[in-house]
Amino acid sequence: MPEVAPVVSKRRAALKKLSVPFVDLGARHAPLRARLLEAVGRVLDHGQFILGPEVAELEERWARRCGVRHAIGVSSGTAALSLILKALDIGAGDEVVTAPNSFIASASSVVLAGATPRFADVGDDFNMDPESVQACIRENTRAIVVVHLTGRPAAMDEINAIANRRQVVVIEDAAQAMGAKSAGRPVGSLGLAGAFSLHPLKIIGGCGDAGMITTDDDALADQLRRLRNHGFQNRQEDCTAWGYNERMDTLQAALALVKWDHLDTWIQRRRDQAAIYRRRLVKFVRIPPDRPNDQAVYQTFPVLADRRDSLADFLRHHDIGCAVHYPVPIHLLEAARELGYRRGDLPEAEKQATRTLSLPIHEGLTDEQIHHVCDVIERFYDE
Ligand SMILES: *Cc1c(COP(=O)(O)O)cnc(C)c1O
Repeated sequence: MPEVAPVVSKRRAALKKLSVPFVDLGARHAPLRARLLEAVGRVLDHGQFILGPEVAELEERWARRCGVRHAIGVSSGTAALSLILKALDIGAGDEVVTAPNSFIASASSVVLAGATPRFADVGDDFNMDPESVQACIRENTRAIVVVHLTGRPAAMDEINAIANRRQVVVIEDAAQAMGAKSAGRPVGSLGLAGAFSLHPLKIIGGCGDAGMITTDDDALADQLRRLRNHGFQNRQEDCTAWGYNERMDTLQAALALVKWDHLDTWIQRRRDQAAIYRRRLVKFVRIPPDRPNDQAVYQTFPVLADRRDSLADFLRHHDIGCAVHYPVPIHLLEAARELGYRRGDLPEAEKQATRTLSLPIHEGLTDEQIHHVCDVIERFYDE
């Protein structure tokens, strides 16, 4: 009798059914609901709705946590960036180096201040490549807006060294990075000033728009406090220069203070989830590396994936949320046309935009859900 090879079934175990939402702000707030409502009640009772006592308390905690002398509550992360540029008198004729793969506000704040953004290309960690930063600096460069994209600190030692050598200031766009550390030092303390966002989707936020500025510079802090409030020191008769209305709402500060107690737990959850992804997905996708002495907070968890759009469809088909941050780099947006960039000018950022896919990561997810995302990705590349 000839031997017959047994028929090996190529059918694999069915993937389990488990929904993994990319964001779920309702679920994120549900466990805190009673304390959030109490906080709202306290603000309704005292009635100081703008720059009230909760704003001062949040500013104090934020400054202490970032290891700086001043934190200034403002109306959004975008306002934080704009006010810093205004306070430094950066405008027409000036250039500011920033990242092409960031959220649009890193660049729009520069343009709206009247200055010109110059985009540095990025490295495999999605952050600005110091060599490219250096190459962007010219005679009229005034500042570098360094973005700690995805909650991973940028190469601050190298970028600060370049800035010192060329006498330009460093502004941190830390909107995605509250709690992150670079060689043990908190982001927001690594440049002249830091801009944070308390948008509800960020690491810690309010239930609406708000932002925070950090700085160690007393004079800059004083000026920022005036600029956010019409130029007033205290009252109208003390107004020495025109300012804006970019103050923080007390309600947002009160709500953020409730979340403050959970900040470290939430960051740890994100770090644990990132560790699972890293361990399980290393064979299937490229995972941006963390710098050895840094602590990232993983506002998002992007991977670089072959057949990215098919993978995204496959994940969504399995009820797993994902997103592309960001599909078009800033320098190729219609709005940026007058800056004169062309496709091919920033090859790494452009290549990453075609391959990047952000996986679900937030404190509302269980390890089981993260493993399920990995199972589904594994299946996609096995097929
Ligand atoms: C969210 C974000 C901002 C803007 O913050 P808002 O509070 O939404 O104005 C700026 N830069 C980056 C990198 C961001 O992610």
